[in-house]
Amino acid sequence: MTTTAAHNTAENHIFEADVARLLHMMVHSVYSDKDVFLRELISNAADASEKLRFEAIATPTLLANDPDSRITLSLDEEKRQLVVEDNGIGMSRDELIEALGTIARSGTRAFMERIEANKAGEGAQLIGQFGVGFYSCFMVAERVDVVSRRAGADEAWLWSSDGRGSYSVSPVDVVDSPSRGTRITLQLMEDAKTYTSRWSVERIVKEQSGHVPVPIKIIEKPG
Ligand code: ADP
Ligand code: MG
Repeated sequence: MTTTAAHNTAENHIFEADVARLLHMMVHSVYSDKDVFLRELISNAADASEKLRFEAIATPTLLANDPDSRITLSLDEEKRQLVVEDNGIGMSRDELIEALGTIARSGTRAFMERIEANKAGEGAQLIGQFGVGFYSCFMVAERVDVVSRRAGADEAWLWSSDGRGSYSVSPVDVVDSPSRGTRITLQLMEDAKTYTSRWSVERIVKEQSGHVPVPIKIIEKPG
């Protein structure tokens, strides 16, 4: 990593038009089953563990001294935050921008086409039918911070957005990042503080993520 001034400042990026539209819908969603966001984040964390296992077949050193996959949910009622962390493959700077700033996936494209075809207002109901992935966390969060460090990389990056048109990307000191993988911090909306309750989160995980092949640990930050 070079030490130019650019690395000390956050770069701002505008979301791809389709993403901006999808996010606008998420932020203003009146869809009642917002719980699905957690299933989506956990499924991404599990996918990231799976990708790491696969890459580690050819490159075992990627596992370093931390061979066991895990997903940790940390609840902080006082700060009104929910943190979803994995020790999977992680994302480089370019992967963060590609994965969380564009719509590359066929599922989301199909979803957007359905939204287009529908009259206004019906879009929200479609959220539950499609796996809308990462962007669904903007149904419950007013700000989302993603700190990620790709397995084997010596740098970490922060992607941050309030879901309103743009996001920033900046370097993070590796001491403030997971040693490998991704930490997603949701600054929850006022009416979404139920997601800091162990009881609620345990129930949702049991209902929606029971099949996930990676152990999920729930930690409460002492208030
Ligand atoms: P999908 O999972 O269907 O690809 P998502 O919107 O859920 O779509 O996620 C978009 C992309 O962001 C993923 O394909 C992946 O590349 C990246 N991503 C999201 N969360 C993580 C994570 N925890 N670790 C690594 N990559 C992730
Ligand atoms: Mg996903």
